[in-house]
Amino acid sequence: MSMQPVPITIANGDGIGPSIMQATLHILEAAGARIAPETIEIGEQVYLRGQTNGIDDSAWESLRRTKVFLKAPITTPQGGGYKSLNVSMRKALGLYANVRPCVAYSPFVDTKHPNMDLVIIRENEEDLYAGIEHRQTEEVYQCLKLITRPGCERIVRYAFEYARQQGRERVTCMIKDNIMKLTDGLFHKVFKEIGEQYPDIEQDSMIIDIGAARIADTPENFDVVVMPNLYGDIVSDVAAQIAGSVGMAGSANIGDQCAMFEAIHGSAPDLAGQDVANPSGLLHGAVQMLVHIGQADVAEKVHNAWLCTLEDGIHTADIYKQTVSKQKVGTMAFADAVIARLGKTPSLLSPVSYAQSTPLKLPTPVRKAPAQKALVGIDIFLQWQQGEPAELGQKLNALSRENIKLQLITNRGVKVWPTGFPETFCTDHWRCRFLSPTENLDFAEVLALQTRLHDAGFDVVKTENLYTFDGEAGYASVHG
Ligand code: NAD
Repeated sequence: MSMQPVPITIANGDGIGPSIMQATLHILEAAGARIAPETIEIGEQVYLRGQTNGIDDSAWESLRRTKVFLKAPITTPQGGGYKSLNVSMRKALGLYANVRPCVAYSPFVDTKHPNMDLVIIRENEEDLYAGIEHRQTEEVYQCLKLITRPGCERIVRYAFEYARQQGRERVTCMIKDNIMKLTDGLFHKVFKEIGEQYPDIEQDSMIIDIGAARIADTPENFDVVVMPNLYGDIVSDVAAQIAGSVGMAGSANIGDQCAMFEAIHGSAPDLAGQDVANPSGLLHGAVQMLVHIGQADVAEKVHNAWLCTLEDGIHTADIYKQTVSKQKVGTMAFADAVIARLGKTPSLLSPVSYAQSTPLKLPTPVRKAPAQKALVGIDIFLQWQQGEPAELGQKLNALSRENIKLQLITNRGVKVWPTGFPETFCTDHWRCRFLSPTENLDFAEVLALQTRLHDAGFDVVKTENLYTFDGEAGYASVHG
């Protein structure tokens, strides 16, 4: 084990960030963490001096060199052209796995779920967080949901490897593939494929709506839960909150080369500058960081001292309850209380051991051999306000040709032509599907069709090519 201090990058963040960072570093130093922090500035100050992505080039340099980042929460200005720096950093540094343990500390922290001990493993780079959004018509806005096979494979394998390493028994996959059959369908399919390589681990899947409801109701029935980005973002906040306080859970953002550790909560501007925030979320992120840099001994010491502090009833305001708490303390006094307990192990709460927790090394993903891809048609999206679906169908039919024919028209995904209900509300955004009767459609024919539409005065706002892959449709079918 190296005794050399490990260079890490830290950012104090906004709102309660500087105060919980100070408390966390104070504890790490007292515990003997062998780290050499270098501070970068990110967040509100950087946004306000005109850098709309919230980070300077010099900060990227530090992050890419140290490859380890302990980050306090930052404020993302609402509205305007500001990008979420959290999302940008996760994507730019390839931090694909977001690991969020949510544990109850009953009876010392009030919760309706005393036996809760689950870990949410959230895909961190894809899904609706790609930030690809467009306004297409007067009335319609679009956000693109991107799910990739390598992305699913990495996160699902991470979840199974994590479960195996941590001695956890079950991995549950949560998706919405009854509706999003291709995107969430792929996540689910990959879960089943990779799951076959882990027969020692129980596995099941749930549709996200009932899954989220069950986590909120009986979280003690869950162990490791893996899900796409948006569901994981929402459900992990719910899980952290019902475990006791959103102020207590930490999160590790793991990539092949870099890793970022943080609290799951935000900058809580309402509590800034009052020395009342709970530093435990960031401290838990820091504990995960110590394990990541090979200092499991220090991680264990800090975590056990923190458990002793909870047991002794020394609580910040967010978890203070007259019936169980003995002393309400501020951020720095809480840190001092943890420091005073370094070297002790809890007597009622289970002590932690990080002996088995080395950073996971996943096998290099093997890309599948490319499928036979054939162009079979095109979905053309039009802005059209003039009249009834039947009229549009008639006009577009006239622009069909032998090898590319209008098959159907939908409005907000509902079929309105050749059949449909007059009750269906129609907006100004029409998806017109043209298909080829053969599997050898030439792209030139698709372009020619668009030219005919344009020449006929139609406003083409977007197109989506329709392919088959090894004969299987790469587009959702339309019913109704
Ligand atoms: P938030 O998590 O900052 O705060 C919500 C509420 O939870 C607070 O009002 C506070 O009552 C409580 N809380 C949160 N952390 C606490 C702590 N450590 N101790 C005690 N109580 C705590 O969520 P928000 O108000 O929606 O967001 C505020 C800002 O934070 C926004 O600008 C948002 O974009 C940003 N944000 C940043 C991150 C991040 O940096 N990772 C994550 C989420 C939100």
